[in-house]
Amino acid sequence: MPETGATISGHRGLQLEEPLIFEQGSPSKTAVDLPENALPAGSERLGGVRRRDTIGLPGLSEPEVVRHYLRLSQKNYSIDSGLFTLGSCTMKHNPRLNEKVARLPGIGDLHPLQPVSSVQGALELIHTLAHWLTTLTGLPAVAMSPAAGAHGELVGLMTIRAALEDRGDPRKRVLVPESAHGTNPATAAACGYTVETIDADARGRVDLGHLREQLASDVAAIMVTNPNTCGLFESEILDIAAAAHDVGAFFYCDGANFNAIVGRVRPGDLGVDCMHINLHKTFSTPHGGGGPGSGPVVLSQELAPFAPVPYVVTDGNGYALVEHSRDSGQKPFGRVKGFHGQFGMFVRALAYMMSMGADGLRQASADAVLNANYIMAELDGAMTPAFSGPCMHEALFDDRFLKDSGVTTLDFAKAMIDEGFHPMTVYFPLVVHGAMLVEPTETESKETLDQFIESLRGLAQRAKSGDSDYFRGAPRLAPRRRLDETKAARSPVLRWRPTRDTKAEKPINQAAE
Ligand SMILES: *Cc1c(COP(=O)(O)O)cnc(C)c1O
Repeated sequence: MPETGATISGHRGLQLEEPLIFEQGSPSKTAVDLPENALPAGSERLGGVRRRDTIGLPGLSEPEVVRHYLRLSQKNYSIDSGLFTLGSCTMKHNPRLNEKVARLPGIGDLHPLQPVSSVQGALELIHTLAHWLTTLTGLPAVAMSPAAGAHGELVGLMTIRAALEDRGDPRKRVLVPESAHGTNPATAAACGYTVETIDADARGRVDLGHLREQLASDVAAIMVTNPNTCGLFESEILDIAAAAHDVGAFFYCDGANFNAIVGRVRPGDLGVDCMHINLHKTFSTPHGGGGPGSGPVVLSQELAPFAPVPYVVTDGNGYALVEHSRDSGQKPFGRVKGFHGQFGMFVRALAYMMSMGADGLRQASADAVLNANYIMAELDGAMTPAFSGPCMHEALFDDRFLKDSGVTTLDFAKAMIDEGFHPMTVYFPLVVHGAMLVEPTETESKETLDQFIESLRGLAQRAKSGDSDYFRGAPRLAPRRRLDETKAARSPVLRWRPTRDTKAEKPINQAAE
Protein backbone atom coordinates (compact mmCIF):
# COMPACT_ATOMS: atom_id res chain seq x y z
CA MET A 1 0.00 0.00 0.00
CA PRO A 2 1.46 3.42 -0.94
CA GLU A 3 2.53 5.29 2.15
CA THR A 4 1.13 8.58 0.93
CA GLY A 5 -2.40 7.17 0.87
CA ALA A 6 -2.13 6.16 4.52
CA THR A 7 -0.84 9.58 5.47
CA ILE A 8 -3.64 11.38 3.70
CA SER A 9 -6.46 9.31 5.14
CA GLY A 10 -5.07 9.46 8.66
CA HIS A 11 -4.09 13.10 8.49
CA ARG A 12 -7.32 14.77 9.55
CA GLY A 13 -7.79 12.48 12.55
CA LEU A 14 -4.56 13.76 14.04
CA GLN A 15 -5.42 17.37 13.51
CA LEU A 16 -6.68 18.95 16.71
CA GLU A 17 -8.91 21.47 14.97
CA GLU A 18 -11.86 20.20 12.99
CA PRO A 19 -13.13 22.98 10.71
CA LEU A 20 -16.84 23.73 10.79
CA ILE A 21 -18.83 21.87 8.19
CA PHE A 22 -19.56 25.27 6.61
CA GLU A 23 -15.82 25.84 6.21
CA GLN A 24 -15.36 22.47 4.56
CA GLY A 25 -18.25 22.54 2.13
CA SER A 26 -19.18 24.82 -0.70
CA PRO A 27 -22.71 25.87 -1.66
CA SER A 28 -21.94 24.92 -5.25
CA LYS A 29 -21.44 21.25 -4.34
CA THR A 30 -24.17 18.80 -3.40
CA ALA A 31 -24.28 15.20 -2.22
CA VAL A 32 -27.59 14.39 -3.88
CA ASP A 33 -28.98 14.98 -7.33
CA LEU A 34 -32.40 16.55 -6.92
CA PRO A 35 -34.64 16.92 -9.97
CA GLU A 36 -34.99 20.37 -11.42
CA ASN A 37 -37.93 22.39 -10.09
CA ALA A 38 -40.76 21.38 -12.44
CA LEU A 39 -43.21 24.08 -11.35
CA PRO A 40 -43.92 26.76 -13.93
CA ALA A 41 -42.37 30.14 -13.18
CA GLY A 42 -44.60 32.28 -10.97
CA SER A 43 -46.42 29.23 -9.61
CA GLU A 44 -48.38 29.92 -6.41
CA ARG A 45 -48.57 26.36 -5.16
CA LEU A 46 -47.27 27.15 -1.69
CA GLY A 47 -49.62 30.09 -1.33
CA GLY A 48 -46.97 32.29 -2.83
CA VAL A 49 -44.49 31.44 -0.10
CA ARG A 50 -41.35 30.62 -1.98
CA ARG A 51 -37.71 30.60 -1.18
CA ARG A 52 -36.21 33.67 -2.76
CA ASP A 53 -32.57 33.33 -1.78
CA THR A 54 -30.18 30.48 -1.43
CA ILE A 55 -30.16 29.25 2.15
CA GLY A 56 -26.43 28.72 2.27
CA LEU A 57 -26.22 25.09 3.28
CA PRO A 58 -22.74 23.68 2.94
CA GLY A 59 -22.38 21.28 0.03
CA LEU A 60 -20.44 18.12 0.77
CA SER A 61 -20.40 14.58 -0.51
CA GLU A 62 -21.78 11.87 1.73
CA PRO A 63 -18.35 10.50 2.69
CA GLU A 64 -17.20 14.01 3.59
CA VAL A 65 -20.18 14.44 5.89
CA VAL A 66 -19.67 11.01 7.47
CA ARG A 67 -15.98 11.72 8.09
CA HIS A 68 -16.67 15.14 9.58
CA TYR A 69 -19.09 13.79 12.16
CA LEU A 70 -17.02 10.70 12.86
CA ARG A 71 -13.97 12.89 13.56
CA LEU A 72 -16.05 15.09 15.85
CA SER A 73 -17.33 12.01 17.69
CA GLN A 74 -13.75 10.79 18.11
CA LYS A 75 -12.92 13.93 20.06
CA ASN A 76 -15.37 12.78 22.70
CA TYR A 77 -14.40 10.56 25.55
CA SER A 78 -16.90 7.81 26.25
CA ILE A 79 -17.31 4.62 28.20
CA ASP A 80 -16.78 2.80 24.90
CA SER A 81 -13.40 4.44 24.38
CA GLY A 82 -11.85 4.06 27.82
CA LEU A 83 -11.99 3.83 31.59
CA PHE A 84 -14.46 6.41 32.92
CA THR A 85 -14.04 6.68 36.69
CA LEU A 86 -16.49 9.51 37.26
CA GLY A 87 -17.43 8.88 40.89
CA SER A 88 -21.10 8.87 41.90
CA CYS A 89 -22.08 8.64 38.21
CA THR A 90 -21.47 4.87 37.91
CA MET A 91 -20.40 4.88 34.27
CA LYS A 92 -21.12 1.22 33.57
CA HIS A 93 -20.47 -0.61 30.34
CA ASN A 94 -23.61 -0.73 28.17
CA PRO A 95 -23.86 -4.36 26.97
CA ARG A 96 -24.60 -4.62 23.24
CA LEU A 97 -27.11 -7.40 23.86
CA ASN A 98 -29.37 -4.83 25.55
CA GLU A 99 -29.17 -2.59 22.49
CA LYS A 100 -30.03 -5.50 20.24
CA VAL A 101 -33.07 -6.45 22.30
CA ALA A 102 -34.31 -2.84 22.45
CA ARG A 103 -34.26 -2.70 18.64
CA LEU A 104 -36.21 -5.92 18.05
CA PRO A 105 -39.23 -5.43 15.84
CA GLY A 106 -42.26 -5.44 18.14
CA ILE A 107 -40.25 -3.58 20.78
CA GLY A 108 -38.51 -0.81 18.86
CA ASP A 109 -41.57 -0.15 16.68
CA LEU A 110 -44.20 0.21 19.40
CA HIS A 111 -46.28 3.35 19.54
CA PRO A 112 -47.33 4.65 22.96
CA LEU A 113 -50.89 5.27 21.76
CA GLN A 114 -51.50 1.68 20.65
CA PRO A 115 -54.51 0.05 22.30
CA VAL A 116 -53.60 -1.82 25.47
CA SER A 117 -54.75 -5.11 23.95
CA SER A 118 -52.02 -4.81 21.29
CA VAL A 119 -49.15 -4.08 23.72
CA GLN A 120 -49.64 -6.86 26.25
CA GLY A 121 -46.02 -7.94 25.81
CA ALA A 122 -44.72 -4.45 26.56
CA LEU A 123 -46.89 -4.18 29.66
CA GLU A 124 -45.69 -7.60 30.77
CA LEU A 125 -42.12 -6.37 30.32
CA ILE A 126 -42.78 -3.30 32.53
CA HIS A 127 -44.50 -5.50 35.09
CA THR A 128 -41.61 -7.97 35.10
CA LEU A 129 -39.04 -5.20 35.52
CA ALA A 130 -41.13 -3.78 38.37
CA HIS A 131 -41.04 -7.23 39.96
CA TRP A 132 -37.23 -7.39 39.73
CA LEU A 133 -36.92 -3.89 41.22
CA THR A 134 -39.27 -4.57 44.13
CA THR A 135 -37.59 -7.94 44.76
CA LEU A 136 -34.08 -6.47 44.76
CA THR A 137 -35.05 -3.57 47.03
CA GLY A 138 -37.48 -5.34 49.35
CA LEU A 139 -40.11 -2.64 48.86
CA PRO A 140 -43.59 -3.59 47.64
CA ALA A 141 -44.42 -0.96 45.01
CA VAL A 142 -42.66 1.02 42.29
CA ALA A 143 -43.44 4.11 40.25
CA MET A 144 -41.86 3.39 36.87
CA SER A 145 -42.35 6.66 35.01
CA PRO A 146 -39.70 9.10 36.38
CA ALA A 147 -37.16 9.92 33.70
CA ALA A 148 -33.96 10.26 35.75
CA GLY A 149 -32.60 9.97 39.26
CA ALA A 150 -33.31 13.62 40.04
CA HIS A 151 -36.81 13.21 38.61
CA GLY A 152 -37.23 10.16 40.84
CA GLU A 153 -36.27 12.25 43.87
CA LEU A 154 -38.95 14.75 42.93
CA VAL A 155 -41.52 11.99 42.53
CA GLY A 156 -40.47 10.45 45.86
CA LEU A 157 -40.85 13.69 47.77
CA MET A 158 -44.12 14.53 46.01
CA THR A 159 -45.43 11.10 47.03
CA ILE A 160 -44.33 11.71 50.61
CA ARG A 161 -45.94 15.14 50.57
CA ALA A 162 -49.21 13.65 49.27
CA ALA A 163 -49.17 10.99 52.01
CA LEU A 164 -48.53 13.58 54.72
CA GLU A 165 -51.26 15.89 53.42
CA ASP A 166 -53.63 12.93 53.33
CA ARG A 167 -52.81 12.33 56.99
CA GLY A 168 -53.71 15.96 57.68
CA ASP A 169 -50.13 16.48 58.81
CA PRO A 170 -48.31 18.61 56.24
CA ARG A 171 -44.77 19.19 57.44
CA LYS A 172 -42.16 21.84 56.76
CA ARG A 173 -38.64 20.51 56.90
CA VAL A 174 -36.47 18.00 55.05
CA LEU A 175 -33.09 16.98 56.49
CA VAL A 176 -30.17 16.31 54.14
CA PRO A 177 -26.61 15.26 55.11
CA GLU A 178 -23.90 17.70 54.12
CA SER A 179 -22.26 15.07 51.90
CA ALA A 180 -25.44 14.82 49.77
CA HIS A 181 -25.61 15.21 46.01
CA GLY A 182 -26.89 18.68 45.10
CA THR A 183 -30.08 17.25 43.65
CA ASN A 184 -31.26 16.26 47.17
CA PRO A 185 -31.54 19.77 48.65
CA ALA A 186 -32.69 21.11 45.26
CA THR A 187 -35.54 18.58 45.16
CA ALA A 188 -36.64 19.28 48.72
CA ALA A 189 -36.61 23.03 48.03
CA ALA A 190 -38.55 22.53 44.78
CA CYS A 191 -41.20 20.68 46.79
CA GLY A 192 -41.57 23.68 49.07
CA TYR A 193 -39.67 22.31 52.07
CA THR A 194 -37.08 24.08 54.15
CA VAL A 195 -33.82 22.17 53.76
CA GLU A 196 -31.64 21.63 56.77
CA THR A 197 -28.21 20.08 56.82
CA ILE A 198 -27.17 17.14 58.95
CA ASP A 199 -23.48 17.16 59.86
CA ALA A 200 -21.13 14.41 58.82
CA ASP A 201 -19.04 12.84 61.56
CA ALA A 202 -15.26 12.39 61.38
CA ARG A 203 -15.75 8.97 59.76
CA GLY A 204 -17.62 10.47 56.80
CA ARG A 205 -21.00 9.16 57.96
CA VAL A 206 -24.18 10.88 59.12
CA ASP A 207 -23.71 12.34 62.59
CA LEU A 208 -26.52 10.47 64.36
CA GLY A 209 -26.44 12.81 67.36
CA HIS A 210 -26.90 15.85 65.14
CA LEU A 211 -29.67 14.09 63.20
CA ARG A 212 -31.52 13.35 66.45
CA GLU A 213 -31.20 17.00 67.52
CA GLN A 214 -32.66 18.18 64.23
CA LEU A 215 -35.54 15.70 64.09
CA ALA A 216 -38.92 16.93 65.27
CA SER A 217 -42.58 16.49 64.43
CA ASP A 218 -42.34 19.07 61.61
CA VAL A 219 -39.80 17.01 59.62
CA ALA A 220 -41.38 15.45 56.53
CA ALA A 221 -38.42 13.34 55.48
CA ILE A 222 -34.73 12.67 55.72
CA MET A 223 -32.87 12.11 52.45
CA VAL A 224 -29.89 9.83 52.93
CA THR A 225 -27.65 8.24 50.30
CA ASN A 226 -26.42 4.74 51.12
CA PRO A 227 -23.65 3.89 50.44
CA ASN A 228 -23.03 7.59 50.82
CA THR A 229 -21.16 9.93 48.49
CA CYS A 230 -17.91 9.31 50.39
CA GLY A 231 -18.22 5.72 49.13
CA LEU A 232 -18.97 4.48 52.65
CA PHE A 233 -21.79 2.34 54.00
CA GLU A 234 -23.86 4.20 56.58
CA SER A 235 -23.18 1.77 59.41
CA GLU A 236 -25.85 3.31 61.66
CA ILE A 237 -28.51 3.15 58.97
CA LEU A 238 -30.99 1.20 61.14
CA ASP A 239 -30.74 3.82 63.89
CA ILE A 240 -31.08 6.60 61.32
CA ALA A 241 -34.30 5.03 59.99
CA ALA A 242 -35.68 4.42 63.47
CA ALA A 243 -34.95 8.00 64.54
CA ALA A 244 -36.83 9.36 61.51
CA HIS A 245 -39.79 7.03 62.01
CA ASP A 246 -39.99 7.90 65.72
CA VAL A 247 -41.03 11.45 64.80
CA GLY A 248 -43.33 10.31 61.98
CA ALA A 249 -40.92 11.34 59.21
CA PHE A 250 -40.28 9.29 56.06
CA PHE A 251 -36.90 7.90 55.10
CA TYR A 252 -36.06 8.80 51.50
CA CYS A 253 -32.99 6.94 50.28
CA ASP A 254 -31.03 8.31 47.34
CA GLY A 255 -30.40 5.04 45.49
CA ALA A 256 -27.78 6.33 43.05
CA ASN A 257 -25.17 4.10 44.71
CA PHE A 258 -27.29 0.95 44.61
CA ASN A 259 -24.67 -0.68 42.34
CA ALA A 260 -22.54 -1.28 45.45
CA ILE A 261 -25.12 -3.43 47.23
CA VAL A 262 -27.42 -5.00 44.62
CA GLY A 263 -28.25 -8.59 45.51
CA ARG A 264 -26.71 -8.20 48.96
CA VAL A 265 -28.72 -5.59 50.84
CA ARG A 266 -32.42 -4.83 50.42
CA PRO A 267 -33.03 -1.18 51.27
CA GLY A 268 -36.54 -2.11 52.48
CA ASP A 269 -34.90 -4.14 55.25
CA LEU A 270 -33.00 -1.04 56.35
CA GLY A 271 -36.17 0.94 57.02
CA VAL A 272 -36.20 2.85 53.72
CA ASP A 273 -39.68 4.09 52.74
CA CYS A 274 -38.86 5.37 49.30
CA MET A 275 -35.85 5.19 46.95
CA HIS A 276 -35.11 6.08 43.35
CA ILE A 277 -33.05 3.72 41.22
CA ASN A 278 -31.00 5.20 38.39
CA LEU A 279 -31.33 2.49 35.73
CA HIS A 280 -28.36 4.10 33.94
CA LYS A 281 -26.18 3.74 37.03
CA THR A 282 -27.09 0.35 38.43
CA PHE A 283 -28.64 -1.53 35.53
CA SER A 284 -26.27 -0.56 32.70
CA THR A 285 -28.57 1.52 30.47
CA PRO A 286 -26.76 4.33 28.62
CA HIS A 287 -26.40 7.69 30.36
CA GLY A 288 -26.82 9.50 27.07
CA GLY A 289 -26.28 13.22 26.69
CA GLY A 290 -28.66 14.15 29.46
CA GLY A 291 -31.22 11.58 28.49
CA PRO A 292 -33.15 9.49 28.07
CA GLY A 293 -32.57 8.33 31.61
CA SER A 294 -34.88 6.40 33.85
CA GLY A 295 -35.34 6.65 37.60
CA PRO A 296 -38.06 4.32 38.92
CA VAL A 297 -38.99 4.93 42.56
CA VAL A 298 -39.67 2.02 44.91
CA LEU A 299 -42.19 2.70 47.67
CA SER A 300 -43.40 1.28 50.96
CA GLN A 301 -46.96 0.00 51.41
CA GLU A 302 -47.87 3.24 53.15
CA LEU A 303 -46.67 5.43 50.25
CA ALA A 304 -47.83 3.19 47.40
CA PRO A 305 -51.41 4.57 47.12
CA PHE A 306 -50.03 8.04 46.34
CA ALA A 307 -47.65 6.98 43.54
CA PRO A 308 -48.15 8.75 40.22
CA VAL A 309 -50.06 7.19 37.33
CA PRO A 310 -49.76 5.36 35.05
CA TYR A 311 -48.89 1.94 36.36
CA VAL A 312 -49.36 -1.59 35.11
CA VAL A 313 -51.68 -4.05 36.86
CA THR A 314 -52.50 -7.64 36.07
CA ASP A 315 -55.36 -9.94 37.05
CA GLY A 316 -53.43 -13.00 35.94
CA ASN A 317 -55.11 -13.11 32.50
CA GLY A 318 -53.76 -9.94 31.03
CA TYR A 319 -52.29 -6.55 31.74
CA ALA A 320 -54.00 -3.20 32.12
CA LEU A 321 -52.85 0.34 32.74
CA VAL A 322 -54.14 2.42 35.63
CA GLU A 323 -54.34 5.95 34.25
CA HIS A 324 -56.64 7.70 36.76
CA SER A 325 -57.42 7.48 40.45
CA ARG A 326 -60.98 6.45 39.58
CA ASP A 327 -59.57 3.29 37.96
CA SER A 328 -58.04 2.15 41.20
CA GLY A 329 -59.56 3.63 44.33
CA GLN A 330 -56.00 4.82 45.08
CA LYS A 331 -54.90 8.43 45.55
CA PRO A 332 -52.17 9.07 42.95
CA PHE A 333 -50.83 12.62 43.20
CA GLY A 334 -50.81 12.96 39.42
CA ARG A 335 -48.65 12.21 36.41
CA VAL A 336 -45.02 13.12 35.90
CA LYS A 337 -44.16 11.96 32.42
CA GLY A 338 -45.80 11.43 29.05
CA PHE A 339 -47.03 7.90 28.48
CA HIS A 340 -45.42 5.12 30.54
CA GLY A 341 -41.87 6.33 31.16
CA GLN A 342 -38.70 5.49 29.24
CA PHE A 343 -39.76 2.19 27.80
CA GLY A 344 -36.56 1.70 25.79
CA MET A 345 -34.58 1.93 29.01
CA PHE A 346 -36.88 -0.58 30.71
CA VAL A 347 -36.09 -3.04 27.93
CA ARG A 348 -32.34 -2.57 28.33
CA ALA A 349 -32.45 -2.80 32.13
CA LEU A 350 -34.51 -5.97 32.10
CA ALA A 351 -32.29 -7.51 29.40
CA TYR A 352 -29.32 -6.77 31.67
CA MET A 353 -30.96 -8.23 34.76
CA MET A 354 -32.10 -11.38 33.01
CA SER A 355 -28.77 -11.96 31.28
CA MET A 356 -26.89 -11.45 34.56
CA GLY A 357 -29.33 -13.43 36.71
CA ALA A 358 -29.58 -13.00 40.46
CA ASP A 359 -26.13 -14.51 40.97
CA GLY A 360 -24.62 -12.26 38.29
CA LEU A 361 -26.03 -9.13 39.91
CA ARG A 362 -24.57 -10.19 43.26
CA GLN A 363 -21.24 -10.79 41.56
CA ALA A 364 -21.34 -7.37 39.86
CA SER A 365 -21.76 -5.50 43.14
CA ALA A 366 -18.95 -7.54 44.71
CA ASP A 367 -16.63 -6.82 41.77
CA ALA A 368 -17.49 -3.10 41.79
CA VAL A 369 -16.50 -2.92 45.46
CA LEU A 370 -13.38 -5.02 44.89
CA ASN A 371 -12.20 -2.80 42.02
CA ALA A 372 -12.67 0.38 44.06
CA ASN A 373 -10.79 -1.08 47.02
CA TYR A 374 -7.97 -2.27 44.75
CA ILE A 375 -7.52 1.28 43.44
CA MET A 376 -7.68 2.77 46.91
CA ALA A 377 -5.17 0.31 48.36
CA GLU A 378 -2.75 0.64 45.44
CA LEU A 379 -2.83 4.44 45.50
CA ASP A 380 -2.62 4.76 49.27
CA GLY A 381 0.75 6.38 49.89
CA ALA A 382 0.99 8.04 46.48
CA MET A 383 -2.31 9.81 47.10
CA THR A 384 -4.30 10.35 50.29
CA PRO A 385 -7.50 8.33 50.82
CA ALA A 386 -9.95 10.60 52.62
CA PHE A 387 -10.91 8.00 55.23
CA SER A 388 -9.19 4.97 56.61
CA GLY A 389 -10.63 1.51 56.14
CA PRO A 390 -12.20 -0.14 53.11
CA CYS A 391 -14.64 1.65 50.85
CA MET A 392 -17.68 0.45 48.96
CA HIS A 393 -17.88 0.95 45.17
CA GLU A 394 -15.92 4.21 44.95
CA ALA A 395 -12.64 5.41 46.44
CA LEU A 396 -12.49 8.95 47.82
CA PHE A 397 -9.19 10.83 47.94
CA ASP A 398 -8.52 14.33 49.22
CA ASP A 399 -5.78 16.79 48.24
CA ARG A 400 -3.48 16.40 51.26
CA PHE A 401 -0.94 14.66 49.00
CA LEU A 402 -0.77 17.86 46.92
CA LYS A 403 -0.07 20.04 49.95
CA ASP A 404 2.58 22.71 49.21
CA SER A 405 3.02 21.40 45.64
CA GLY A 406 1.23 24.33 44.03
CA VAL A 407 -0.94 21.75 42.21
CA THR A 408 -4.67 21.76 42.84
CA THR A 409 -7.19 18.98 42.45
CA LEU A 410 -8.36 20.66 39.24
CA ASP A 411 -4.79 20.77 37.84
CA PHE A 412 -4.32 17.11 38.72
CA ALA A 413 -7.55 16.18 36.96
CA LYS A 414 -6.56 18.11 33.84
CA ALA A 415 -3.23 16.28 33.68
CA MET A 416 -5.12 12.97 33.68
CA ILE A 417 -6.62 13.93 30.31
CA ASP A 418 -3.13 13.91 28.79
CA GLU A 419 -2.62 10.45 30.25
CA GLY A 420 -5.63 9.32 28.21
CA PHE A 421 -8.09 9.02 31.09
CA HIS A 422 -11.31 10.82 31.80
CA PRO A 423 -10.79 12.52 35.17
CA MET A 424 -12.59 11.26 38.23
CA THR A 425 -15.28 13.40 39.87
CA VAL A 426 -13.57 16.35 41.57
CA TYR A 427 -14.57 18.68 44.43
CA PHE A 428 -17.47 16.40 45.34
CA PRO A 429 -18.52 15.49 47.97
CA LEU A 430 -18.06 18.90 49.59
CA VAL A 431 -17.18 17.53 53.01
CA VAL A 432 -13.66 16.59 51.93
CA HIS A 433 -11.05 19.14 50.84
CA GLY A 434 -10.16 18.96 47.15
CA ALA A 435 -12.11 15.72 46.77
CA MET A 436 -11.34 13.18 44.03
CA LEU A 437 -13.96 10.46 43.79
CA VAL A 438 -12.91 7.42 41.75
CA GLU A 439 -15.51 4.84 40.70
CA PRO A 440 -14.13 2.15 38.39
CA THR A 441 -17.28 -0.08 38.19
CA GLU A 442 -17.15 -3.86 37.96
CA THR A 443 -16.33 -4.55 34.32
CA GLU A 444 -12.80 -3.13 34.28
CA SER A 445 -9.97 -5.64 34.14
CA LYS A 446 -7.03 -5.67 36.52
CA GLU A 447 -4.78 -4.64 33.60
CA THR A 448 -6.85 -1.52 32.96
CA LEU A 449 -6.91 -0.64 36.64
CA ASP A 450 -3.13 -1.16 36.84
CA GLN A 451 -2.53 1.26 33.94
CA PHE A 452 -4.72 3.83 35.65
CA ILE A 453 -2.94 3.35 38.98
CA GLU A 454 0.47 3.64 37.28
CA SER A 455 -0.58 6.88 35.60
CA LEU A 456 -1.87 8.41 38.81
CA ARG A 457 1.23 7.36 40.76
CA GLY A 458 3.37 9.04 38.11
CA LEU A 459 1.34 12.22 38.26
CA ALA A 460 1.37 12.28 42.06
CA GLN A 461 5.14 11.93 42.05
CA ARG A 462 5.48 14.66 39.46
CA ALA A 463 3.31 16.98 41.54
CA LYS A 464 5.32 16.32 44.67
CA SER A 465 8.56 16.98 42.77
CA GLY A 466 7.41 20.58 42.30
CA ASP A 467 6.62 20.55 38.58
CA SER A 468 3.46 22.59 38.99
CA ASP A 469 3.85 24.32 35.61
CA TYR A 470 3.30 21.00 33.91
CA PHE A 471 -0.05 20.65 35.66
CA ARG A 472 -1.15 24.22 35.09
CA GLY A 473 -0.51 23.81 31.35
CA ALA A 474 -2.57 20.62 31.11
CA PRO A 475 -4.31 19.35 29.12
CA ARG A 476 -2.01 19.63 26.11
CA LEU A 477 -3.28 16.69 24.09
CA ALA A 478 -7.02 17.42 24.15
CA PRO A 479 -9.00 19.03 21.33
CA ARG A 480 -9.60 21.95 23.67
CA ARG A 481 -7.16 23.34 26.20
CA ARG A 482 -8.26 24.57 29.58
CA LEU A 483 -11.41 26.67 29.87
CA ASP A 484 -11.80 29.51 32.32
CA GLU A 485 -13.40 27.53 35.10
CA THR A 486 -13.20 30.39 37.58
CA LYS A 487 -16.30 31.71 35.83
CA ALA A 488 -18.12 28.44 36.43
CA ALA A 489 -17.00 28.48 40.06
CA ARG A 490 -18.77 31.80 40.52
CA SER A 491 -22.06 30.41 39.22
CA PRO A 492 -24.68 30.18 41.98
CA VAL A 493 -25.71 26.73 40.72
CA LEU A 494 -22.30 25.22 41.36
CA ARG A 495 -21.88 26.99 44.65
CA TRP A 496 -24.32 25.12 46.84
CA ARG A 497 -22.82 24.82 50.27
CA PRO A 498 -24.20 23.14 53.35
CA THR A 499 -25.98 25.63 55.60
CA ARG A 500 -23.40 25.17 58.32
CA ASP A 501 -20.73 27.64 57.19
CA THR A 502 -18.34 27.31 60.08
CA LYS A 503 -17.32 23.72 59.44
CA ALA A 504 -17.78 23.81 55.67
CA GLU A 505 -14.35 25.44 55.52
CA LYS A 506 -12.94 22.69 57.68
CA PRO A 507 -12.96 19.27 56.01
CA ILE A 508 -14.42 16.62 58.28
CA ASN A 509 -11.60 14.17 57.70
CA GLN A 510 -8.91 16.65 58.73
CA ALA A 511 -10.26 17.58 62.13
CA ALA A 512 -6.98 16.59 63.77
CA GLU A 513 -4.82 18.85 61.61
C1 LIG B 1 -26.41 10.76 39.80
C2 LIG B 1 -26.91 11.10 41.12
C3 LIG B 1 -28.16 11.72 41.31
C4 LIG B 1 -29.00 12.22 40.15
O1 LIG B 1 -29.35 11.25 39.23
P1 LIG B 1 -29.62 11.57 37.68
O2 LIG B 1 -30.08 10.28 37.13
O3 LIG B 1 -28.32 12.04 37.13
O4 LIG B 1 -30.67 12.64 37.63
C5 LIG B 1 -28.60 11.91 42.60
N1 LIG B 1 -27.87 11.55 43.66
C6 LIG B 1 -26.64 10.97 43.53
C7 LIG B 1 -25.87 10.56 44.76
C8 LIG B 1 -26.12 10.74 42.26
O5 LIG B 1 -24.92 10.18 42.12
